[in-house]
Amino acid sequence: MNENSCIFCKIVKKEIPAKIVYEDEKCLAFLDINPLALGHTLVVPKKHAKSIFDLDEEDAKHIFSIAKKICLKMKEKLGAEGVNLVQSSEEVAGQSIPHFHLHVIPRKSNDDLSDLVQWWRSKVKKVDEKQLEEIAKTIKLEEEQKEEKKEERSEEEIYWIRRETELA
Ligand code: 5GP
Ligand code: ZN
Repeated sequence: MNENSCIFCKIVKKEIPAKIVYEDEKCLAFLDINPLALGHTLVVPKKHAKSIFDLDEEDAKHIFSIAKKICLKMKEKLGAEGVNLVQSSEEVAGQSIPHFHLHVIPRKSNDDLSDLVQWWRSKVKKVDEKQLEEIAKTIKLEEEQKEEKKEERSEEEIYWIRRETELA
């Protein structure tokens, strides 16, 4: 599916209607047409990205921060006592609409969604300490962390260069 035939791109471009909860230059949040609970919202980037794998880094941060605001609003206005944030990337994970979307689902103690997490718990795998240690090593973000530190340092360096220039 390309951007022209993507349903969520069409919603972003207002070519098909949706009940919009939030909009800015980077993202759109609208009600899911088949909600798990009243208020179930989808937060999507305006720039088409199929899944988390090709989602712009800045969009990722922004979408999460908008989702947090929506959660707080759900707490305040819908009496949500909790929320589930669900994101499925790629068909293998159950993604049905190939434009990245974060589900924000309001939860209450007496709702009918408690099996959402019960199901999850019924699927946990038995693993030993060694397996956990190996997997942690395998997916450890060592290189990425080094890069981040480098970027932080260079921002600090820029600050000091600016200060020195100001003081000169
Ligand atoms: P996924 O299964 O990809 O995680 O979630 C896709 C979600 O998009 C589903 O919960 C589905 O109800 C919602 N959805 C599909 N088509 C439309 C649509 O045309 N409008 C809106 N508002 N939601 C849609
Ligand atoms: Zn799209």
